[in-house]
Amino acid sequence: MSYHCAVCHKVSITAPDLARHIMGRGDKPHRDWLASKGLKYSELLIAQMKTFGGEGYHSLTKVLQNETWVDDEIPPAKSSVGTDSEK
Ligand SMILES: [Zn+2]
Repeated sequence: MSYHCAVCHKVSITAPDLARHIMGRGDKPHRDWLASKGLKYSELLIAQMKTFGGEGYHSLTKVLQNETWVDDEIPPAKSSVGTDSEK
């Protein structure tokens, strides 16, 4: 399983890693995505500066765990383009 950035589709193994990616980018698409999840980039930055070890990203990490988790253990089934399964 892994976490896929909803903005640029970067794949991370852990949610905190993806949180660092999003905060590290900090460009408009990533900030807009944060805003759509009810998070503020500036507030996360401040929280991060006040703490150590990524604690400030905790709220973001929780969102990532719910929103960007991808179970890639099983590859997606055949595309539905060829509908030969209806018999
Ligand atoms: Zn990204």
